[in-house]
Amino acid sequence: CGIVGVLGTHEVAPLILESLKRLEYRGYDSAGIATVNTGRLDRRRAVGKLINLSDLLVHEPLAGKAGIGHTRWATHGEANVKNAHPHSSGPVTVVHNGIIENFRTLREELASVGLGHETDTDTETIALLTRHLMEQGMDPEAAVRETLARLDGAFALAFIFEGHDDLMIGARKGSPLAVGWGDGEMYLGSDAIALAPMTDRITYLDEGDWVVLTRGGATFYDFAGNRVNRDVSVIRLDQ
Ligand code: GLU
Repeated sequence: CGIVGVLGTHEVAPLILESLKRLEYRGYDSAGIATVNTGRLDRRRAVGKLINLSDLLVHEPLAGKAGIGHTRWATHGEANVKNAHPHSSGPVTVVHNGIIENFRTLREELASVGLGHETDTDTETIALLTRHLMEQGMDPEAAVRETLARLDGAFALAFIFEGHDDLMIGARKGSPLAVGWGDGEMYLGSDAIALAPMTDRITYLDEGDWVVLTRGGATFYDFAGNRVNRDVSVIRLDQ
């Protein structure tokens, strides 16, 4: 039930793990991290407490300076490794908090174009749909904008993409999400607490907003796709 994303200047898996620990208070049943490393996506997922994920990372390290992490509170599909986030399809990897109400309709539509599901989650449908749109020629930004327009329900999302080491896209509808500003680094998190070890400069997404991050900064859009400005606040928390 938490999301973290880092476009960093160092290895991000340890940072993401640390941030996920700060979201443990929300409750969860499984967890995972994905990175994009010189263009390649890779991920590690584990059921149960974060210690299981951190043990796994010791045996099977995850390299990369850009990545997303998730703690899951299962709503669709049991708490097993297959259903744990991040979910990947083709060039797309996504983490999600919330529920996609129309995932069954979307799933059937995607199956009819040859994109079958492999998990029991509503979330996988998002990865499949964005992949489908990219295969139709859209770039990641356009594909996410189009995906968001098709989703009913509540979500906070973070995406990374194969071949894009300096790109992360976040979205918020009915589930909170914040952008953190670093020095040559950018972050996404469910709240300021998750981002506190990295930065105290925070921009909360408004309802319906989505955001395109590079290490150079953030571009915010409202649900209609208009560019919007969102304020940066300094939020000091005891670490
Ligand atoms: N509905 C998604 C799932 O069951 C996300 C759950 C969550 O918010 O952690 O996988």
